[in-house]
Amino acid sequence: MKVAVIKESAPGERRVALVPEMIARLRAAGLEVLVESGAGDGAWFADSTYAEAGATVVSREELLAGADLILTVGKPDGQILGGLRSGQAILGMLNPLADPGLAATLASRGITAISLDGLPRTLSRAQGMDALSSQANVAGYKAALVGASAFGRFFPMLTTAAGTARPAKVLILGTGVAGLQAIGTARRLGAVVSAYDVRPQTRTEVESLGGTFIELSSVGDAAGEGGYARALTDEERQAQQAELTGHIARHDVIITTAQVPGRKPPLLITEDALKAMTAGSVVVDMGSGPLGGNVAGSVPGETVVTGNGVTIIGAANLATTVPAASSAFLARNISALVLHMVAEGALVIDPSDEIQAGVVITHDGAVIHPATAALLAKTQPGDDAPGGATP
Ligand code: NAD
Repeated sequence: MKVAVIKESAPGERRVALVPEMIARLRAAGLEVLVESGAGDGAWFADSTYAEAGATVVSREELLAGADLILTVGKPDGQILGGLRSGQAILGMLNPLADPGLAATLASRGITAISLDGLPRTLSRAQGMDALSSQANVAGYKAALVGASAFGRFFPMLTTAAGTARPAKVLILGTGVAGLQAIGTARRLGAVVSAYDVRPQTRTEVESLGGTFIELSSVGDAAGEGGYARALTDEERQAQQAELTGHIARHDVIITTAQVPGRKPPLLITEDALKAMTAGSVVVDMGSGPLGGNVAGSVPGETVVTGNGVTIIGAANLATTVPAASSAFLARNISALVLHMVAEGALVIDPSDEIQAGVVITHDGAVIHPATAALLAKTQPGDDAPGGATP
């Protein structure tokens, strides 16, 4: 079986789905590895390093013609989609719940689609395949650096002959994987860190990293299914926003990471809260994306300064800005999943396996992932796909 790595083409995407270090592992399982020329350039993995590791470097045309399984970071572009043929498989972060139309297209073309974002994350044997966590770790680390860099003062307390600077007060809203990594990084830089989450069970993790957990009297435990948060009711949301405003105003740098699966990100920092902040404060909105963000007025990929001098950074996809590290993690996740699905050098699709049930979206001409199929069933023929356009 030929496994092929494409060169990503999404704007700003610098990651690659496989790094040279993983090639020996795949070859040992009887797989041949093709790499599109330039695939690793954005993460400083040259074609020659792939070739030295045992891969064959090819053009896109050769790759599409020869590949059995195509590895990608994000969704395939139009050229790849157009060049795929029935019987091929594609594996990456395809996000079928946000773009079920892509799954429908791949199924109708007879292509097997495998999406890393459907992985059952609490299953211990799947943890080495958890790309959402590995990329959130990288992004949380970078968010703290981005916040520190945009802040016009120090994170640590500094005592010099010219005076003493107090440490920055950093607030992390949302303490999942990214939030916890942001706490650790801000602490290592010397900031005083507080954090809040609607899942109070994260308190012990926050405290073990040296942060102070903020509890709100107006919102109770909002833990939902599978370790995620549930969406708040309108009343809870308003109470939360109002109570958070006082805490927000007392902090210099705020990093927001809140997400609720399948929903637009909750608004945690309102316009009123921004107005209460001091000039020079910084907000890094990791919730920022096409569906909105955690911060009023944040724009994905852009930096906005409010009238009262608060810098809001719309920090969508920070993992790609640390491309060598995020690609190395991602490549380990992808290789582990590929090896899990391969027997005797061939891909074996088995939806009765708990891991495969989460990640195999289309096979044999049908959408077999239940949640994606249910989303598509809601869409009338002729309607636009619910989550967005199919490339
Ligand atoms: P996420 O990206 O979905 O959300 C980030 C954080 O935002 C979560 O902690 C969530 O509680 C919080 N949040 C949502 N709405 C909020 C609101 N209105 N106000 C404040 N905070 C809000 O989460 P994630 O980082 O992908 O993971 C969430 C959880 O999934 C983990 O903490 C863990 O319990 C579970 N998980 C388990 C494993 C494992 O067992 N190996 C691996 C990964 C994740």
